[in-house]
Amino acid sequence: MSKLSPMMQQYLNIKAAHKDHVLFFRLGDFYEMFFDDAVNISKELELTLTGKDCGLPERAPMCGIPYHSAETYIKRLIDKGYKVAICEQTEDPSLAKGLVKRDVIRVITPGTLIEGDMLEDSRNNYIASIYIKGKAFAACFADISTGEVYLTEQISTNLSNDVLNELSKFMPAEILCNEAFQKDKEIKEFLANRLTALSSTYEGERIDLSDAEREVKQHFKVSEAEELGMKGGGLAVLALGGLIQYLNQTQHEGAKRLSQIHFYTESQYMNIDITARRNLEITETIRTKEKRGTLLWVLDKTKTAMGKRLMRKSLEQPLINLAEITRRQNAVKELFDGHMVRDGLQQQLGGVYDLERLMTRVVYDSANPRELRALAATARRLPEIKELTASFRSEQLREIHNDIDLMEDIANLVENSIVEEPPFSLKDGGYIKPGFNENLDEYRGLCTNAKEIIKGIEESEREKTGIKGLKIKYNKVFGYYIEVTNSNLDMVPETYIRKRTLTNCERYITQELKELETKVLTASEKILALENEIFHEVRKYIASRLDGIQRTANAVSKLDFFCSLAFVAMQNNYVCPELTLDGSLEIKNGRHPVVEQMLDGSVFVPNDTYLNTSSDRMAIITGPNMAGKSTYMRQVAIITIMAQIGSFVPASAARLSIVDRIFTRVGASDDLAAGQSTFMVEMSEVAHILKYATSQSLVILDEIGRGTSTFDGMSIAKAVVEFIVNTKRLRCKTLFATHYHELTSMEDELEGVKNYNISVKKRGDDITFLRKIVPGGADDSFGIEVAKLAGIPERVVSRAKEILSELESEHGVVRVVKEPVRQDSQMTLMSYTSEIEEKLKALQVDTLTPLEALSMLYEWKKLLK
Ligand code: ATP
Repeated sequence: MSKLSPMMQQYLNIKAAHKDHVLFFRLGDFYEMFFDDAVNISKELELTLTGKDCGLPERAPMCGIPYHSAETYIKRLIDKGYKVAICEQTEDPSLAKGLVKRDVIRVITPGTLIEGDMLEDSRNNYIASIYIKGKAFAACFADISTGEVYLTEQISTNLSNDVLNELSKFMPAEILCNEAFQKDKEIKEFLANRLTALSSTYEGERIDLSDAEREVKQHFKVSEAEELGMKGGGLAVLALGGLIQYLNQTQHEGAKRLSQIHFYTESQYMNIDITARRNLEITETIRTKEKRGTLLWVLDKTKTAMGKRLMRKSLEQPLINLAEITRRQNAVKELFDGHMVRDGLQQQLGGVYDLERLMTRVVYDSANPRELRALAATARRLPEIKELTASFRSEQLREIHNDIDLMEDIANLVENSIVEEPPFSLKDGGYIKPGFNENLDEYRGLCTNAKEIIKGIEESEREKTGIKGLKIKYNKVFGYYIEVTNSNLDMVPETYIRKRTLTNCERYITQELKELETKVLTASEKILALENEIFHEVRKYIASRLDGIQRTANAVSKLDFFCSLAFVAMQNNYVCPELTLDGSLEIKNGRHPVVEQMLDGSVFVPNDTYLNTSSDRMAIITGPNMAGKSTYMRQVAIITIMAQIGSFVPASAARLSIVDRIFTRVGASDDLAAGQSTFMVEMSEVAHILKYATSQSLVILDEIGRGTSTFDGMSIAKAVVEFIVNTKRLRCKTLFATHYHELTSMEDELEGVKNYNISVKKRGDDITFLRKIVPGGADDSFGIEVAKLAGIPERVVSRAKEILSELESEHGVVRVVKEPVRQDSQMTLMSYTSEIEEKLKALQVDTLTPLEALSMLYEWKKLLK
């Protein structure tokens, strides 16, 4: 009976432990896949499917990829949702007795990437671990490539929603969770429609608290988990412990790099729920999911990858602590005023590489010589950066200055040991500098000078023996040998050892020649080994400096972040907002930072805003479509967010109170994919706002109620306004845009409601948008005029006008609704209107002189009064 070959048996044993992974099995210079993996992956990656003798009658299906270009293939598989187990030879094949030992050194999953080419520079790559129990949950988000861990434990009244908010803040690439998480319907929907993340339950589906605690304590070297700042009922320990366990199982180097743990509570950051996050287009646009056209796009003028990630993170979680925001503001102010220094800093920052991710590669023993050179190049920028920050006085900038470690030792070590332009891989050597290690120099000398040395020996042997025709030659069988022709054999000294006799000559070796030969022959191998050893030593030294370098990385990223905010503030003419806690919001000449950048040629019209928690808590904004209502309301929310990350804001002056939550109800086009009707989505968003907004919140409602019949919609809209304004818990600052002009009557009925409209100028059938917000309700909807602008055919437009006027006369609706109109006056107004209409119809416009026209206008106006 035929039997599997030992290697194939080894493969199957390893594969049995990695059933859910694609196994990349290292054979020489290739990663090979066999059997089902080969059949499947050859299709996925368009590789040629071949076969390999495996001892059985049928060849095993096989496909492979060269190991040096593995990263691109791995990335493609990861993107397709696979996990890839990398199985390496764990002993030197030349030293192995029998079958070379092999083992899986790492399972690559979307959340455990550390390779620069597989990661996006400007964003963190998080793996989440979420544990839900009853009404409480813990969420842990870790970026293995930078070492950061964010951890929270919350008791929640709206669990699914709060978990989703955390998920949408971090958008992890992979999720570990317990069953309760997987069973939650809302979460399931979110995972299906909004977040492409691989999710799996903890090994064995549950984690034991004492196991988790042990993992956490061991990893962070503390005697109690509380020392890490964790609070709560132990769920945070479970989530963190579960993650560490997973990393220890899947990564050869385990969770080694996770070092900076940040425990946060829900009350530490402004709560921007998923809907608001999307609607306000903070980091990606709703339609195209791009950065261009977002607030991040405007504010991010950072120079380093670390700064870019910090900018994104800060926008994803604005602060709510006044003192903390002020500290950031002070740093931005100093850099805003000191533009010469800032220019210098930004120039230096341009040459700073991604210290965080480079250090991860160093710590995980996978950094290559080029990456170490990048570390050194960065280190050389630090003295200038430190020097430039020396004169700053604000607390944050002083801290940054103090935290910068010059890394001179690292720069010197790398520059002395590694050549300027090293090769990518360690395989062929050639990366350690001459002069760094004597032995290495000697071996290299031997290799390059072998010919010269042989020539030297040849000459000295000729002299010593007097044999003029003595030659030193080389062949693969004997190595180096001395050849003496038969006529000179009597002159051969005794020290020569005869190796072979040919017809006309003899071949000898000598002790010296043999030694040299072994040296030369093994020199290249030795060079490779020694270079490797030196490189590992250098890398190990750098790894031992992790703490200092990490601190420097943090300092540099903050500096980059502040410089960017200051630079953008100066370029775009922003001001530093004054922050208060009195609940009011006052913006003079506010602008929408993104729309103003996107306007092609036309000028953005600035607008004022005033809101507070008493007399002006609800602004009802009317105005035609396209007038700029949404832009105006979003601008207020975005200015608030900018202020709370410490940025200056687009206005001529701003006085802002800290906002705890921002809610928006704007539009819901892509929720249809999630299987809900537009109206349903709209109503559940409104319900959410009414349930969770507080008096410190900022609420933006754009045309609620439009998804149903006019009367239903209007009634809902009105009831919502009443509820927000009257409910003690709410009474929050609200901007409410509506086409229901009837709602403007509420200004007189409810305390705290103010009407505004966005003005337009109408001339004949044409309207001009003035974009200016003014007190009072709007005169008209101009829906038909806007439809005309949008290119609706003239026939449809004029028919719409006919229908409108029919409807208006049928319902007795008068479109001028500045003030709430009483029934009787409406009737009188109607009769005047029809009288004027009659006159208008009878009018012969062509025969009219301008003077006649003017006097008629006066007359009609008088009638209306
Ligand atoms: P709709 O009711 O149809 O949703 P809207 O009143 O909400 O319309 P917006 O979408 O806010 O109108 O604005 C329409 C366009 O007008 C924007 O895309 C922008 O280009 C321009 N716009 C808005 N506000 C201003 C402004 N203050 N200055 C200059 N242009 C503006």
